[in-house]
Amino acid sequence: RIAYVNGAYVPLAGAAVGIEDRGFQFADGVYEGIAVRKGRLIDLEPHLQRLWRSMGELDMDAPMAVGPMRLVLSEVVRQNRIADGFLYVQVTRGEARRDHAFPAFSRPSLIVTCRRFDYDAVFTRAATGVKAKSVPDIRWGRCDIKSISLLPNVLAKQAARSEGAFEAVLIDTDGNVTEGSSTNVWMVDGTNTLITRATSDNILPGITRAVLADLAAEHQVRVDTRPFSLEEAYQARELFLTSTTSGVMPIVALDGRTIASGRPGPLAGRLLAAYKTHMDSCP
Ligand code: PMP
Repeated sequence: RIAYVNGAYVPLAGAAVGIEDRGFQFADGVYEGIAVRKGRLIDLEPHLQRLWRSMGELDMDAPMAVGPMRLVLSEVVRQNRIADGFLYVQVTRGEARRDHAFPAFSRPSLIVTCRRFDYDAVFTRAATGVKAKSVPDIRWGRCDIKSISLLPNVLAKQAARSEGAFEAVLIDTDGNVTEGSSTNVWMVDGTNTLITRATSDNILPGITRAVLADLAAEHQVRVDTRPFSLEEAYQARELFLTSTTSGVMPIVALDGRTIASGRPGPLAGRLLAAYKTHMDSCP
């Protein structure tokens, strides 16, 4: 496998950045995860826009202009001969003598990796759905920034996995669902309205979330962007997750409570079909 590291395409085994990289010491960096389907980067432009926004919010210099970045990303896909995969892009503030404050001079560091990922296996899993577990959301106040500082997300996901659940559903201090540890969360209420939390500083504006909102509108499905409580989620007609690697993934049990019939609902099924078509029609 080949990685891109600060200007060079190198074998992944042995690829390295310095131990004084601020990403390593302070988690002072941002990232993107992009789906590769049939060799194409899915929703590349919104991912690049979100990356630039994350860098801007942290006053971080871009490691290169957006045009060269597009070339680097497709070159990593090409060199790894990936048809279906997951591309990871990380930018940090670079290497500098350890000090919390921004260094006067540092070159941002850029790494890009790509591995195979089986979306068809995910779509198969969506036919039965997954279990989830609620976990208190203990993250910081800027979850809209796609920061590599992911310890609360890591701990939440592990708390779920250790109980056999696929995802952790994060709950804020008001008892409302924010999002998943690496996904956005949606519910369908008794009137077949889709409900998902509005984007603000407490959730990541998911690219899959935005695509799904568009697809819902195209399919004449009502979308209400508002917070919903864990209690509402338990009573939902349907509950599902969206993300780059999960697509549209039904939750059939939450905290051991069966959601609706315990089988994926029809709306999630329709939206997944629409999302697959979207993936296949990306340029
Ligand atoms: N929320 C969080 C916290 C995430 O980490 C992710 C995935 N990176 C998402 C939501 C889903 O975002 P996307 O649809 O862009 O993959």
